[in-house]
Amino acid sequence: MVQAAPVTIVNVGYRSTNYWVVSAGTSRLLVDIGWPGILGTMKANLKRMGVPLREIRYALATHYHMDHAGLAEELKMEGVPLLVLNIQVEAIPVMKTWMKPQDNYVEVTPYGNVTISFDESRKLLSRMGIPGEILHTPGHSDHCVSLILDDGPVFTGDLPPEAYAFDNAVALASWALLRERGATRVYPAHGPIGLFDKTPGYQLPG
Ligand SMILES: [Zn+2]
Repeated sequence: MVQAAPVTIVNVGYRSTNYWVVSAGTSRLLVDIGWPGILGTMKANLKRMGVPLREIRYALATHYHMDHAGLAEELKMEGVPLLVLNIQVEAIPVMKTWMKPQDNYVEVTPYGNVTISFDESRKLLSRMGIPGEILHTPGHSDHCVSLILDDGPVFTGDLPPEAYAFDNAVALASWALLRERGATRVYPAHGPIGLFDKTPGYQLPG
């Protein structure tokens, strides 16, 4: 019997944004992809953390804002396919409208993207040796997704922290979903790793 490689998590972030590499051995997924125009910084951080670029099977953006997906096309050119949830497709071209020339943004094209539904995410991750799934977790923007691993870690992008989201029913519903799915540790795109609060601070209406 082949023993599954334990899943490991490292941060290759910079400029106050966390980019998480989730690995099952040498089968790796990059969660959030980097600011535009600074592929060199990303490459240096990957190297420093012992992650060969060629071992990254997919790059997943929790959402298409410049600090999360700005580097997606440049990484595709390096051979890392972009993993897109079907509800994110329309948000991709909008990203360029916020970019300034000095951002050196390379526009994300549809070419070479791997577009899947949430239902298909578990199978794709399982082929990578990563037990988990990708869930729709709106609240920061409508097209935000989270990656949850079956043993508890959840990668939430910019989902507003639950304690501060009392006026954001959409975000609270996303936290409720993550709680229901057994999240135990929160790996946000900004700030430190947090323990998932088992008791919701807010009861959803109805
Ligand atoms: Zn952000």
